[in-house]
Amino acid sequence: MNAYYDQEALSAIRDGVRDLCSAYDDSYWRQVDQEKAFPVAFVKAMTEAGWLGAMIPEQFGGSGLGLAEASVILEEVNRSGGNSGTIHGQMYNMFTLLRNGSEAQKQYYLPKLASGELRLQSMGVTEPTAGTDTTKIKTTAVRHGDKYVINGQKVWISRIQHSDLMILLARTTPLADVARKTDGMSIFLVDLRQAIGNGLTVQPIENMVHHITNELFFDNLEIPADALIGEEGKGFRYILDGLNAERTLIAAECIGDGRWFIDKASRYANERVVFGRPIGMNQGVQFPIAEAHIEVEAADLMRWQACQLYDQGSSAAGAAANMAKYLAAKASWEAANACMQTHGGFGFACEYDVERKFRETRLYQVAPISTNLILSYVSEHLLGLPRSF
Ligand SMILES: Cc1cc2nc3c(=O)[nH]c(=O)nc-3n(C[C@H](O)[C@H](O)[C@H](O)COP(=O)(O)OP(=O)(O)OC[C@H]3O[C@@H](n4cnc5c(N)ncnc54)[C@H](O)[C@@H]3O)c2cc1C
Repeated sequence: MNAYYDQEALSAIRDGVRDLCSAYDDSYWRQVDQEKAFPVAFVKAMTEAGWLGAMIPEQFGGSGLGLAEASVILEEVNRSGGNSGTIHGQMYNMFTLLRNGSEAQKQYYLPKLASGELRLQSMGVTEPTAGTDTTKIKTTAVRHGDKYVINGQKVWISRIQHSDLMILLARTTPLADVARKTDGMSIFLVDLRQAIGNGLTVQPIENMVHHITNELFFDNLEIPADALIGEEGKGFRYILDGLNAERTLIAAECIGDGRWFIDKASRYANERVVFGRPIGMNQGVQFPIAEAHIEVEAADLMRWQACQLYDQGSSAAGAAANMAKYLAAKASWEAANACMQTHGGFGFACEYDVERKFRETRLYQVAPISTNLILSYVSEHLLGLPRSF
């Protein structure tokens, strides 16, 4: 809740998303998870209902909504028991194009993204040797006439198999030749339909959350020069620019997860009878759930603060977004633990869905930004502590 926003409008979004999600119940998500599949029908339904184009401006065929409204959409997906990690890429990545793309790129791509004709679910930043130290990426894009030639490797790049386009970060000027290490990187809109098999090889990584995540190998991949987004050399800044929105949306996803765990734990603690009474009568069972509830609600306040500052264009939005993401990821993880513990052995049984959501919410401590990196941001930028890297 935040008085800055029209609560009725937010409730209408909440109800609409909840209604759609009710058709994709726990058994749907359990099956997708067990088959290590992608929820194609759910993503299609969300696209057709216009939720994935929520933040695309109306002039390009979207709904022109703000960050708060988008955050409610993702929160409700997770609160319903689903996994918004399967759709959030489309929202974040669209931002990068909207804020930095040329008029021609926006006119061509945004209406197609809004209608679902094209999918922009993937962003390729992380590399095996650079890790979090993005300025050390080794993937290069070298201009040859009206083309760029890409060589290198990426890791943990999600949803490639369910996307038509990918935003790619590559070095266009060697690290040794730039004044600041953040200079000399550029972003490109890669058409995966043309790239795969023609210089781009995709190797899926089997992993804990079945995010359809991959290793990518670029071997002289040629892309047209007009795939460049914005100015050459400024790609790192463009990526950073989108992070405040991304972190706030992730916070909302965690709030959705946290509430799902707390509801689930409370229900079970009321129903499960051991020693002749509901386990929820024991304060040892109650208190961790109550504590998680307090922490999720506190994180939610910071999430609304982050939304408001972002939607107002405030320079304080970055700090709030980082803190909201930190608090919400921590709170959802504590709620997951409380829910797992409340369920005892049954928490481990797939049919209860706790272990699935437990795995999914754990990711938010690591990706898209790890907790340590947020603490480092707060130390350096808010507290004036010495820079450590
Ligand atoms: C399921 C999944 C999906 C993903 N999807 C994508 C995607 O679509 N696109 C994409 O580009 N990336 C994606 N990622 C990558 C993700 O963003 C990175 O895994 C994450 O940013 C951490 O980078 P790393 O794994 O290289 O960890 P590392 O950088 O190797 O760090 C390992 C650990 O050390 C800590 N650490 C490192 N340096 C410091 C320091 N100086 N101070 C304190 N602690 C430090 C980190 O916090 C972390 O806990 C995904 C990852 C996963 C697991």
